[in-house]
Amino acid sequence: MKTHDDARAAFHAWEAAKPTDLFSADAFFQAVLRHHLGAAGLAAEAPALAAFGQACAGPLDALARETNRDEHLPALRRWDAHGRRTEAVVFHPGYDVLGEAVYATGVMARYATPGHETAQLAVAYLFGQLGEAGHLCPLACTAGLIKILQHAATPEVAARCLPGLLRTDRNHPAHLHGAQFLTEVQGGSDVGANACVARPGPDGAWLISGEKWFCSVIDADLYLMTARPEGAPAGTRGLGAFVVPRVRPDGTPNGVYVRRLKYKLGTRSMASGEADFVDALAWPVALDGGFKAVVEIVLNTSRLYNAVASCGMLRRAQIEATTYAAHRRAFGQPIDQFPLVRQSLDRLRIEAEAAVAGTFALARLADGLALGTAAPHHGALYRLVVNMNKYWTSYQGTSMCREAIEVLGGNGAIEDFSVLPRLLRDAIVCEQWEGTHNVLCAQVLKDLHRYQLHTALFTHADAALAAAAHSPHAPAVAARVAEDRRQVAALLALPADAASLAIRPLVTRLAQSWQALCLLELAADGVASPALADRLAG
Ligand SMILES: Cc1cc2nc3c(=O)[nH]c(=O)nc-3n(C[C@H](O)[C@H](O)[C@H](O)COP(=O)(O)OP(=O)(O)OC[C@H]3O[C@@H](n4cnc5c(N)ncnc54)[C@H](O)[C@@H]3O)c2cc1C
Repeated sequence: MKTHDDARAAFHAWEAAKPTDLFSADAFFQAVLRHHLGAAGLAAEAPALAAFGQACAGPLDALARETNRDEHLPALRRWDAHGRRTEAVVFHPGYDVLGEAVYATGVMARYATPGHETAQLAVAYLFGQLGEAGHLCPLACTAGLIKILQHAATPEVAARCLPGLLRTDRNHPAHLHGAQFLTEVQGGSDVGANACVARPGPDGAWLISGEKWFCSVIDADLYLMTARPEGAPAGTRGLGAFVVPRVRPDGTPNGVYVRRLKYKLGTRSMASGEADFVDALAWPVALDGGFKAVVEIVLNTSRLYNAVASCGMLRRAQIEATTYAAHRRAFGQPIDQFPLVRQSLDRLRIEAEAAVAGTFALARLADGLALGTAAPHHGALYRLVVNMNKYWTSYQGTSMCREAIEVLGGNGAIEDFSVLPRLLRDAIVCEQWEGTHNVLCAQVLKDLHRYQLHTALFTHADAALAAAAHSPHAPAVAARVAEDRRQVAALLALPADAASLAIRPLVTRLAQSWQALCLLELAADGVASPALADRLAG
């Protein structure tokens, strides 16, 4: 029996060895933030991040586990006790507690003024270590909605929606949160096939009819939707962007009928539905060029959030596996003494740090663009890298959750033994949502051909190499970038069919080159990571 007791004591020691503050225990992440925000900026953010990091390591983690249990998943309750239609979704009480905690950090409220994306995403990164936790998708959707309202809507529509979206008290009746519905049953990638129709309604409002197939955060107060104004051209060119309130201003339900909630692989504690819209009241956000505004503002925001979610999951996978391997014994020794296990742990650290380096550099770019302090090529650079980085971080998110599960062996496959099975399921959703891998790579190919966006990447690379010229790694990074240039030129010379096959390996390479450049910049600032040597070895 002693052997059994020893094994259980090792599990207990493993749990006790995990960080009690996800922020303070993450020296690399703190160094990345110091690099982007400066020492004073980090000092200003650190106390709140440490407090949230403690909550995420403790009570919020426990709640995320609870709300994701099969018996606690959201349920559709379409009618109230008196037979009135409500289309309500009921959640486990822990869901609201989690939401209150994350919104209270100001993660959405800080969008009231530009330039805080890096700090806001630091909150999302800590929260993302719990997986989706039911609220990362709503945060991404709400962030995109806030930005499109700020940049594209009329002052009247913005004034109607923004104050509620920017509140910190998530459970207050005046607080609003957002969703974004583009996908229809005939296509998610092919948004131009949208068939939802909009026609003018009363008082400058519109009425939307049709069906949306993937409606995450169906409980949201405001849905950002694409629909085609009657008579508008086919394809994405004819799509408008609208805000649809779930409840009309007079308190009656809008023309939104939830068919059912999706029975999903991941992000299960957040409610995704299928919905019919029957003359649903809608306020216009961008009638002309609606799709362009949605892609440039909303999707380019959620793709950054998606990458941050992947970073959080990568880091959590690293924590779970590394602490476990130090305590689990096999053949008379801790398993982290076996070279193959060490190799897995190294790989987990490398991918987590590379993803954080690349993603938070992108967040910093977003801040520069929002503040108007960015270099002229940064707009093009962001557009290119946000797609490549979403693809690569989400791909690695799934790979590394699987790697961490392997380190835990059979226990890794058990839902209530660790968070890893849930993280794996959420990571797979991150791969599909906001653009599949192929679609993002196809977009990069179009952007290279049409806008020569690679010139922005190489302008950035030249500047980064010049700034880090004294680094011992600079020659190897320069050689890698020279090979990137050669490969981009070769691909752009290929016939269309051959190029569409060759683009995915090239995007994989360029996404890692972006990470190498970010890691080089960090190394030149004294922030070392084994991820840099790894990127240069590939
Ligand atoms: C849990 C979950 C929640 C979601 N929530 C929302 C939401 O709230 N709002 C919303 O609008 N959508 C949502 N989605 C939908 C998601 O955005 C789409 O599933 C995604 O965009 C892909 O669209 P699709 O499913 O129609 O796949 P398809 O477009 O049918 O793609 C199928 C396959 O074909 C490939 N493919 C398609 N086009 C090309 C091409 N040009 N070149 C090469 N390969 C191609 C794709 O890469 C993919 O592998 C959600 C999805 C999930 C899983």
